[in-house]
Amino acid sequence: MAKERGINAIKEKVLSKKYLVTSGLPYANGKLHIGHVAGAYLPADIFVRFRKLKEDDVIYICGTDEHGAPISIKAEAEGIEPQKLVQHYHNSIKNSFDGIGIQFDNFSGTARPEHVKLSQKFFLNLLERGFIKQKTTEQFFDEKHKRFLPDRYVEGICPYCKAEDARGDQCDSCGKLLNPTDLIKPKSKISGATPVLKETTHWYLELPKFENKLRKWLQTKTDWKENVYNFIMSWLNEGLIERAISRDIDWGVPIPLENAAGKVLYVWFDAPIGYISATMEWAKNIGEPEKWKDYWLDENTRLIHFIGKDNIPFHTIIWPAMLMEQDEDYVLPTDVPANEYLNLEGRKMSTSKNWTVWVDDFLEDFDGEYLRYYLAAIAPETKDSDFSWKDFQNKINNDLANILGNLANRVFSFTKKYYDSKIPKPQKLCNNSKILLEETDELLLEIEKAYENYQVRKAVRLIVDMGRLGNRYFDENRPWKAVKQDKDSAAETLYICSELLRRISIVFSPVLPKKMKMLRQMLNLKTDFTIKDLSNQLGDIQIGEISPLFPKIDDKKVRKQLDKLAVAAQQANPKPQIEHKPQVEFADFEKLEIRVVKVIEAEKIKKSNKLLKLKIDIGGEERTVVSGISKFYKPEDIMGKKVAMVLNVKPRKIMGINSEAMILAAKTDDKMKIVVPEGDIDSGSEIS
Ligand SMILES: [Zn+2]
Repeated sequence: MAKERGINAIKEKVLSKKYLVTSGLPYANGKLHIGHVAGAYLPADIFVRFRKLKEDDVIYICGTDEHGAPISIKAEAEGIEPQKLVQHYHNSIKNSFDGIGIQFDNFSGTARPEHVKLSQKFFLNLLERGFIKQKTTEQFFDEKHKRFLPDRYVEGICPYCKAEDARGDQCDSCGKLLNPTDLIKPKSKISGATPVLKETTHWYLELPKFENKLRKWLQTKTDWKENVYNFIMSWLNEGLIERAISRDIDWGVPIPLENAAGKVLYVWFDAPIGYISATMEWAKNIGEPEKWKDYWLDENTRLIHFIGKDNIPFHTIIWPAMLMEQDEDYVLPTDVPANEYLNLEGRKMSTSKNWTVWVDDFLEDFDGEYLRYYLAAIAPETKDSDFSWKDFQNKINNDLANILGNLANRVFSFTKKYYDSKIPKPQKLCNNSKILLEETDELLLEIEKAYENYQVRKAVRLIVDMGRLGNRYFDENRPWKAVKQDKDSAAETLYICSELLRRISIVFSPVLPKKMKMLRQMLNLKTDFTIKDLSNQLGDIQIGEISPLFPKIDDKKVRKQLDKLAVAAQQANPKPQIEHKPQVEFADFEKLEIRVVKVIEAEKIKKSNKLLKLKIDIGGEERTVVSGISKFYKPEDIMGKKVAMVLNVKPRKIMGINSEAMILAAKTDDKMKIVVPEGDIDSGSEIS
């Protein structure tokens, strides 16, 4: 038994070396923002870089999602061809990825003819095998524009969470998938009018037919992230229903049937097929057109889809179902490590309200690797997390500049100053040095494990801990003192810290590839390396050109970002317009008797937390008033004050007391201030 397990373990190891990694395809209808990066791209890029470091066979495939209603809506609004819009955003997104070092083996797009052909093949295979059926239903129609309104062309109130801005395909607030007809108070996105229902024909993927197969397959996925697994199970347990996979728009993959003029595939049907068509393109690009099969048609491939949580149902239920019934024997997803959402300054991100950080804007002010570090340090792996500019500044300045940058800087400048940049490898190490190296050996194992399990947050925390250990060791050994008495001992301190930095340069490279390359150049080390180099040790040290590794971020730069957000908030929530009352005749105003009165008694009314009973003096005459100001004024606050009151509103009985006047007060939702004359004036004076 034990022997068999050993063999299986070896087999597992051999088999697990081929990875096909994808990230959810970004829509080519807008720029890239930090929410995208934190959810689906940075975690994937770090994972791929880690796999490459381990010398695994891994390719990283992505591209823009170029079909669908969001794109045709935007192109229509801008009066350009969808193809042009798509090209523009494809380039913009690609540039942003380049700027933050997201390195794909191929970054393709779904508007290519090869993709169209493959998507049609997927459709036909499912149709022939009896998993797609045709159905005539009623659908929303915009009478003004004489066209059907699929998905996002309709907006309204979510029937589940009552969010007001739910779209016809999904509610962003609660994540539920919707049909346009589910929406409460639906509105056409084109005309704003209430749409009418009209008959149309569509094709449906019969998901219930996959239920048993999917359940069986998903039951083997207990090692998936808990948030993902729970999401899928609740979806499955609600029962699968058939889903329309065609749309009445003219931008998309045409349904390859004779009776389907003007119908295209639903974008969420064709988008994941982009993972395959983009791999085919990659194979062609490297001159081995059949090579895509090594990944997609080999059961030993570990297919890993990195996505944001809104994409979980598509990648774990609909997409695997589509893959299961094809002529080719495609691999199914091995893992779908979806992330939760990233918020911004405590609020949900919103591109329409400009409440986000666009990657190209970020790159104007900061190094792209600072974004990589910060998003890794706060990665929304198990729950939503929050991007805050102050915290960004703190983490960069503390973790990177004060801990790791400081360690490198002090070690290198010391070596330069006292040892002419050269330190020979010590013959023997003292106990302290040995202990430090052993401690970091343990950390290195933990860091590797964290990367394997998609725990980027943990990995970077442990790497910063390594830097802390190095600084503590440096301080304890006081090389600035030792250099005067025992030059060899001080040299050993510098050597050991350099060795620590060398190790960091390897394990931190998946997160900060550029910075770690810089660090290695300062250490005069080769810039191509693998995880195996961890078991080597530095030879003689020859420090190269040194420069600050992590320049600090000053307050001014952070202020600038916060100011930008303040503008966005201002524009998104302008002060509500005051609704004015109709005009009245002056004579009507004159009918009111408003006077300054003096409060001569004030007490709380029992059984009411709103009301005060006041006795007022009007130039010698006394009256009783019940006033709803107790939430804002205690009896002693108002006692003896001269205030404004309307005296000729007909008396009202409140809590059994006759109230013979009405106090004037200014009110907002959460505040109330009584009106008082600006200076002293006799009680009874008329206000007009
Ligand atoms: Zn909702």
